[in-house]
Order: sequence, then structure tokens, then C-alpha cells
Amino acid sequence: MILPIVAYGDPVLKKVGVDIDKDYPNLDTLLDNMFETMYNASGVGLAAPQIGLAIRLFIVDTTPFSDDEDLTDEEQKALNGFKRVFINATILKEEGDEWAFNEGCLSIPDVREDVFRKPKVTIEYLDENFELHTEVFDGLIARVIQHEYDHIEGVLFTDKLSSLKKRLIKGRLGNISKGKIDVDYRMRFPDQKKKR
Ligand SMILES: [Zn+2]
Repeated sequence: MILPIVAYGDPVLKKVGVDIDKDYPNLDTLLDNMFETMYNASGVGLAAPQIGLAIRLFIVDTTPFSDDEDLTDEEQKALNGFKRVFINATILKEEGDEWAFNEGCLSIPDVREDVFRKPKVTIEYLDENFELHTEVFDGLIARVIQHEYDHIEGVLFTDKLSSLKKRLIKGRLGNISKGKIDVDYRMRFPDQKKKR
């Protein structure tokens, strides 16, 4: 089932997510629905707060990035089919010199800005079978993980912009909250006037 994606301005996007355990109700269905929702919106990642749940869960599938011709064959191969579920994740370490990448977010349609992040990340997480992993990721995979991880910490990429950039996009963000935007996937807008 495709779930509505929560738009910028909804308080759930500002909440720090809580850990879940194996008994979390209907987790398999939730994961199926989240993947379906993400693919439907052509996303490469989706975090639970974006569908209204303040829990430490996010999913990633970087396959759409893998046909980028600017990447090496090796990088394309790493991105193709990289599909993961991250539960109760903790970033243990971020390393290297920050690099800029033009990020977007399914909760903030049509806004894209350069965001600086470190290139290498060590993360501890549980997979969908609640098996513990500690892994190191870099490049675009690390980038997507960092973006989604921010969601479960209540942080959006727009929070990371300069105050000038924030002022420049303020009006567009307000319009997104009100639903004054064309978007080709299902969304829920916090400040939309109810139709009578
Ligand atoms: Zn996002």
C-alpha cells in the first residue's frame, strides 16, 4: 500500500525517533508499504517519520543512482541493488573531508540544495531480522544513509543550509506546508486548508 508522505512543516519530522523491538506491530507490512511508497515516489531512501512514525527506522535503495554516467563502473556496481533496512541505527563515526552533494527530499518536493557531509560513515544497526551489523559505507551510499539517519534524529537537509539559503527558500517551504505544490505522489500537508 502506498502511504502518504508527510510534507515539510509537520511536527513529526522534527521528532527524535524512538527505538523499536521485534514485537513492533506489523513490521513486515510496514516495511513492504515503505518500499512501495519510496519506489512510487522514485526515492532512494525513506525514513519512518516521513510516513508519520517517530521511530528509528529507515530504508535505502540506491539502485536509481547506479546509471549515473559520471560514476566509475565500480561505483555503479556498488549502488546497483544496494537495498537495506536500518533499525535502531547509531552512527558511530563520520570521517574525511566534507564534500557537497545536491540533495533533495521526498518531504520537500522540488527543493534541491548542496549539502556538505563527511564521505565515510560507520554505522551500527539492526536489519529486518533484528540481526546486528556494524558497517562502513562511503560515497553516495554513505550520503543517502546520512540523509535518512538525520530524519530519525529530527533533522532535515534544509536545517543544514546557510542562513542566507534558508531565507531564500523560506517562501517555497511555506508553500509546501500548505500543499501549494505540484507533486506526482501521495502527500499529507500540515497547513493545507480543509476543502469543504
Ligand atoms: Zn529526506
